[in-house]
Amino acid sequence: MIRLKSWVYGTWHEGNGKLAALVNPATEAPLAEASSEGVDFARVLDHARGQGLPALSSMSWAERALMLKNVAKLFHSHREELLDLAQQNGGNTRGDAKFDIDGAIGTLGAYASLGESLAAKLGDRKFILDGEMAQLTRAPRFGGQHLWVPRKGVAVHVNAFNFPAWGTFEKAAVAWLAGAPIVSKPATATALVAFRMAELLAASGLVPEGGFQLVCGSAGDLLSRLGAQDSLAFTGSNNTGAMLRNTPGFAERGVRVNVEADSLNAVVLGPDAEIGGELWSTAVRHVVTDMTQKTGQKCTAIRRVAVPESLVNEFQEAVVEALAAHVVGNPLVVGVTVGPVATAQQLRDVTAGIRAVAASGRVVTGGAERVDGRGSDAGKGYFVSPTVIRLDGAGAGPVHDIEVFGPSVSILPYDGSAAEGAALLGRGQGSLVSTAYSDDRAWLGQMIVDGGPWLGRFMLVSSKVADQVTAPGMVLPSCVHGGPGRAGGGEELGHERGLEFYMQRTALQGDRVVLGKILGIEA
Ligand code: NAP
Repeated sequence: MIRLKSWVYGTWHEGNGKLAALVNPATEAPLAEASSEGVDFARVLDHARGQGLPALSSMSWAERALMLKNVAKLFHSHREELLDLAQQNGGNTRGDAKFDIDGAIGTLGAYASLGESLAAKLGDRKFILDGEMAQLTRAPRFGGQHLWVPRKGVAVHVNAFNFPAWGTFEKAAVAWLAGAPIVSKPATATALVAFRMAELLAASGLVPEGGFQLVCGSAGDLLSRLGAQDSLAFTGSNNTGAMLRNTPGFAERGVRVNVEADSLNAVVLGPDAEIGGELWSTAVRHVVTDMTQKTGQKCTAIRRVAVPESLVNEFQEAVVEALAAHVVGNPLVVGVTVGPVATAQQLRDVTAGIRAVAASGRVVTGGAERVDGRGSDAGKGYFVSPTVIRLDGAGAGPVHDIEVFGPSVSILPYDGSAAEGAALLGRGQGSLVSTAYSDDRAWLGQMIVDGGPWLGRFMLVSSKVADQVTAPGMVLPSCVHGGPGRAGGGEELGHERGLEFYMQRTALQGDRVVLGKILGIEA
């Protein structure tokens, strides 16, 4: 049995006391155990502030970019081993595991490239300019320039169970490029992949001492020790996010917090979509991908599907037909395309969620019961069938409140108008992403204005781009990830924008000639 240790203050700490168990969700066989008991969190922060921060701060953009590139290469050279671990501990199919591991490697690579372009633009300057120098009054020499300067704090990252690799290293990539040392805490139940990546990283010496620490198990009193220059980037459920925002001392000290929480992402099919046409089949494909990939355990997965009343029965049939090709089971068995959900608790939550949402409508395929999976012993494994729920009457009931974090969607007929489509988006009370499918520019335009305020990302699929778009559940480093309201109100990634969380925007006011000379810009 593997005992996950924490990489803290330059050493591996093996926790004692109560151990949390990590299992293979397809077989329920124990894989590992973890505890952070005995970790001295004051020392963790001292180590990050005393060693990691000065070391990372002294590095140029080019040096940090090179560091990210080398970390990406390191993980890439252990890709097969990491994919295996993701399959064992996460219940991932190989494709799911790639989504996580390659997502981590790709995001590190994308931020390495950003670092290279910042190096080319800024040279040794450690700040990022924000806009141009402005004349502030009538006095010609009195100028103002906004800029971002790196904060002098520690970045604490708390991640969800569904992306142990991507979640850990998409956050790390951004923080490191901004010059922040990180303390990362993966969700315990699926921490095996993050732990192995931490082992590789610690042995490689690629990140300066104190620049990376990993806590396996509870975060103890780490959060309550954070100060005014520190930050917490949290990904997980809305409930936990709300609790962590209220960590004692956070409000008083102004600890910066970013929350990426749950989300009732939607798709809205436009009234101009033709049965079997480009828009139609792209929407069907997206729905089925999001239900089956990672067994629907993506924060960005589609949960609500709005279809014009005149098309809804055919659309529902097309989704059910496409799902019939999927096989639920042990992802190590050939032919299986949908693995188990990640934990016993997840199984309880998903089945309870399906039951609650379906109470206002009916289950079309799948159901709220655990099923046996191909290649796993009868009664073993946390398997659920991909489930489609049909809700008539604009989806009354909890469909707009309960995030079923598994392979399930609800289909909601609507009148086809942009007003009702956008209103439906808003009923999710803030989402990470949603998608509208139409060639009608006026309809799309109204969706943007009325639906946009509820969304962190909005995908607009028209026929000519339908075969080129990524599935809406895919987070790309160049666009922001996060959403308003119940999605947490946070923002990550988005190219250079992601760095801002780890930096302070300061408005400099002074002699524009002097400022120009110091900053190295045309004044
Ligand atoms: P969760 O139960 O809220 O846990 C998230 C993280 O918080 C875990 O690392 C957990 O640690 C930690 N945590 C719990 N209590 C804590 C405390 N008192 N102090 C410090 N850390 C604490 O969420 P989950 O079940 O892992 O993830 C599923 C949820 O995450 C879904 O709702 C999904 O929508 C959301 N999610 C959102 C995004 C996004 O980007 N918006 C991405 C992925 C997932 P332990 O595991 O040790 O308890």
